[in-house]
Amino acid sequence: GAAAPAPATPAVPLRRDIAALPAYVPGARPQGEGIAKLSSNELPYPVQDSVLAALTDAAAGVNRYPEMTGQRLAEALASRHAEHGIDPCQIVLGNGSVALIQHLLDTVCEPGDEVVIPWRSFEAYPICIAVAGARAVRVPVTAEGRHDVPAMLAACGPATRVIMACTPNNPTGPALTAAELEALVDGAPDGVLVLVDEAYLDFVTDPAVGNALDLLADHPGLVVSRTFSKAHALAGMRVGYLMAEPALAAAIRSVTTPFGVSLPAQAAAAAAIAPPALAETAGRARAVAAERDRVLAALRDQGWTVPDAQGNFYWLEAGEEAARLAAHFEAAGILVRPFVGEGVRVSVGTPEDNERVLAATAAWPGKRA
Ligand code: PMP
Repeated sequence: GAAAPAPATPAVPLRRDIAALPAYVPGARPQGEGIAKLSSNELPYPVQDSVLAALTDAAAGVNRYPEMTGQRLAEALASRHAEHGIDPCQIVLGNGSVALIQHLLDTVCEPGDEVVIPWRSFEAYPICIAVAGARAVRVPVTAEGRHDVPAMLAACGPATRVIMACTPNNPTGPALTAAELEALVDGAPDGVLVLVDEAYLDFVTDPAVGNALDLLADHPGLVVSRTFSKAHALAGMRVGYLMAEPALAAAIRSVTTPFGVSLPAQAAAAAAIAPPALAETAGRARAVAAERDRVLAALRDQGWTVPDAQGNFYWLEAGEEAARLAAHFEAAGILVRPFVGEGVRVSVGTPEDNERVLAATAAWPGKRA
């Protein structure tokens, strides 16, 4: 039968700060035919055939636990990042990169510690920080949606344990240049960890944008996170990874859930970084980036002011009209991610989906920020 509705308040008392947590609100699930789901920055392509085959083969063996630490996948990832000299012992696998961000914060934060984050940025950050018992110090992004690196460094105080960067930044779009990344990592006070979230790095086309892996060998306080959820088209498998110096990686690994990445997920991820699959992924990412740039140019022609977009999404600033703009899209069968009072984030979809977006934005009667 149907599950009973959950009571509003649990019968047992909760940790006070957990009871006060805001829920992470995911993008709506598509309902009905012909809906363009552009609310979660997924890839508008199906899982690759070779990845699906690996996944199906692995599914036959799920009476057994997966490899506990995912050694084989870590070795494959080390080969994939061979040009940066990454060793398997520097890699931590997790149930999506968001779980790893949580594990990292749980590893280093004591109650009352501070974590400096750009804002607006990925909405899971403040939740992970609160769960770790720490306090988020939000440093506003610039009017162009860029990280304000000097302000982030200036926000560090005696209680700061971690600085987080999101490049490209979800939801505003811009990515950090190599110079900005270096300034952030070099400028972080001693003992402060810098986490650079590169979930969307595969879609970057601006050659000025930095790659945090270039800095890893010389900066033991740097951690880089990546995911299979975006360019690799594996959002539903839930696999992400961190790269850090070996001792820090071992510490974070000790906090992760035992067997946290399922057997099929490990197999799918390994198949996704086999060279032919990786080449196809790169081609898909280039196609998505080309569509993104086409849509951005068309939006600007329509009179919208859109910040630079280096990921597979773009930001429509709408202020007080954000909820109405999202409803306008929804009425056109397009699911987007509203940020009430701020704006709307739209994922790059198939060319047909993107045409529907442009028709909807052209018909928007409100202000074009
Ligand atoms: N980082 C950023 C910036 C994201 O936007 C997302 C997903 N929306 C994630 C991390 C989490 O990705 P996952 O847990 O699927 O690896």
